[in-house]
This record gives sequence, C-alpha cells and structure tokens, in this order.
Amino acid sequence: MAKRDYYEILGVAKNASDEDIKKAYRKLAMKHHPDRNQGDDAKKAEEKFKEAKEAYEMLSDAKKRAAYDQYGHAGVDPNMGAGGFRGGPEGFGGFAEAFGDIFGDIFGGAQGGGGRRGAGGPQVYRGSDLSYAMEISLEEAANGKETQIRIPSWSECETCHGSGAKPGTSAKTCPSCHGSGTVHLRQGFFSIQQTCPHCHGSGKIIPEPCTTCNGQGRVKQNKTLEVKIPAGINEGMRIRSAGNGEPGMNGGPPGDLYIEIRIRQHDIFERDGDDLHCTVPVSITLAALGGPIEVPTLSGKAEIDLPEGTQHGKTFRLRGKGIKGVRSSYPGDLYCHVAVETPVKLTEHQRKLMKELDESLKKGGERHSPNAKSWTDRVKDLFK
Ligand SMILES: [Zn+2]
Ligand SMILES: [Zn+2]
Repeated sequence: MAKRDYYEILGVAKNASDEDIKKAYRKLAMKHHPDRNQGDDAKKAEEKFKEAKEAYEMLSDAKKRAAYDQYGHAGVDPNMGAGGFRGGPEGFGGFAEAFGDIFGDIFGGAQGGGGRRGAGGPQVYRGSDLSYAMEISLEEAANGKETQIRIPSWSECETCHGSGAKPGTSAKTCPSCHGSGTVHLRQGFFSIQQTCPHCHGSGKIIPEPCTTCNGQGRVKQNKTLEVKIPAGINEGMRIRSAGNGEPGMNGGPPGDLYIEIRIRQHDIFERDGDDLHCTVPVSITLAALGGPIEVPTLSGKAEIDLPEGTQHGKTFRLRGKGIKGVRSSYPGDLYCHVAVETPVKLTEHQRKLMKELDESLKKGGERHSPNAKSWTDRVKDLFK
C-alpha cells in the first residue's frame, strides 16, 4: 500500500509552521486516540492514530522534515527510532541508507498483523524490532542468495500455558486499574490518563509467577528463517521481514526483523555503486609492446587488448561487467587500472639488456618518454 503524504495526513500546507503541525497533530491524536474509540472502530482509529503520530514525528523534527521534503518517504525511515539516520557527518546516511527498506516484505507469508486489543482493554504494545547483521561475499551480493538464518522466536510457556502464573495459581485483575491497564490522575480541571504503574499496562498482576518463564508466559527459542537476498544488494541495505521481531504485549502486533547487509572485502574487486574496479599488474615490456591481457570479471575471464605504449595508471572500461543494482536497469561497468611493474632481481644478462635499451632510448630522447618533457618543463617553471 502506498504511504500517504505526511502533510496530507495532518491536513497542513507544505510550508506549515511547527506550531500548526503540532496543533493539527493534537487534534487528530484526540480524535483517533485508542482510548476514545472502542469496538468496531478501534482498529481503524488505531491505524489513523499511528499514521498521524508517524507524520508528526517526522515533520516536527527539522532534520527529518528536510529529508522528507527532499526525498519523500524514501528520505525518512520511521523504523530507525530516535535519532533516525545513522552514519554520515551530515547526519544523513546517503541514498543506499535511505532506500534501505525498499524490499519490504520479500519473505511473503510472514505478516505483522494480529493486532487485536487485549480482553478488558489493557494497553496494547507493538513488539520491538530486531536487527540481524549478515555478512556476504561480493559474488553473493551480485548474484543474490537464498539462505537460512536462526532468529529468536517466542512460544507459549508449557509450564503455565501462557498465563505467567505458577501452576495451581492464577493471575488476578489489577486492583489499581481494575484490568484496564490505565489509570486516571486528576490535576485541577484535567484528567490525565497514564499507564497503570502497578501492572505496567497489562491489567493483570501475577501473585506467584511461573518459574519457567519468570511470569512472562512465553519462552524464547530459536527458529530458522528462509532469507532471499536480492541480486545487486549493496552494503548497508536492509531487508525487512515483517512480524519476525519481538512479540507484542497484551496481544499487540509483533515487531519486524531487519537484516542488515555487510559485504566482505574482495581480493580483487572494489565496488563503487554498480561499478567495479580492479588493478591489473602489467610488465614493463608488455606495456611497451602492447598485446592481449586476461582480466578477471565476476562472471569469468575477459580480454583486454593493450595498445602499444600503455602508460601506468591507464584505465580500461569493460561495459556491463559491473553489478546490476537492485533498482538499476543496466549493470555497471568494470574498470581495470593498469599498474606497470618494474622488473626486480635481474640476472647479469637482463641487466646488460636493460643498459643497452637505456642507451638506445636516450638516443631517441623525448620521443620515448611522453610524460618526461612536460614534467621537466614544469620543474623548470617551479625554480624560475
Ligand atoms: Zn510459564
Ligand atoms: Zn493496573
């Protein structure tokens, strides 16, 4: 489902002042607050409330608002929590970061629903998001990968069957809030609603907690999750697996699991966006005489025809031999940087040949050294 525009959600103009945004949000928050909407409307109101809250959180933060104005929803990620953007001295982690979540629910099946309100109306909390760092090779990043990971999961405690109470005992309705999970405090004319400090919003207290789960009603286990890494994924991108985070409280929806991609350094290639770079050592004689050289690519070997007189640092581009990024229509290119190697450990015979070559080259003068003349000229200018 496409996300609605934050300004539209709050019903304010793009140039609305901070004060206007705050006012608009307060009005919506009052209207859609979960405590004011019960029964059939509760679910709808909850969504509206969350939507308004997210819009307000983004637009009330100057940095996030600026990112949103510039990049839209891609520029801000409400799941990043307080502080928002990581890395980057300018406080904005660049496009790869901003677009990190585009894959969405590539896991299919898993769904974060189940957000029913607990019986008796205690406060419902969404579970926390979990993050998982996954390191993959450059080849895996380029070609995609299907793999499995072990993630924590929670299941009902077998000892207490989820009640959290020691067998033979049972949870009791919280006497402070009478099971609602919230208490009202009077302050002058105002009545302020608060999470019940006694039961922390659950509406229940457990006099004798189950010792297996410490009164949690659930125990942590591990489960295997199939993960599909899309081809072209890059360092720092995140894959979201909806509903595989921590479970919610009091029947709230679970959080999401984020798999963050790290790419191992490659022996040969360096990646720059969709392009690859590699350094190709070339002998001094081959560089001078020219000829074919074999270069590696991620999909096998390729050949470059070195022209006669190739200089050190010369770059050859192999079109389409880079990586096809997850959002790219075409693959990037492979840049091969020539590194001319000076021969070492010469034999007497080779040394003699080199000297002969040197004599011969000197006779030809500047003709044989295309860079030397301009360099000596510049040195002369420097000391003029
Ligand atoms: Zn238990
Ligand atoms: Zn209570």
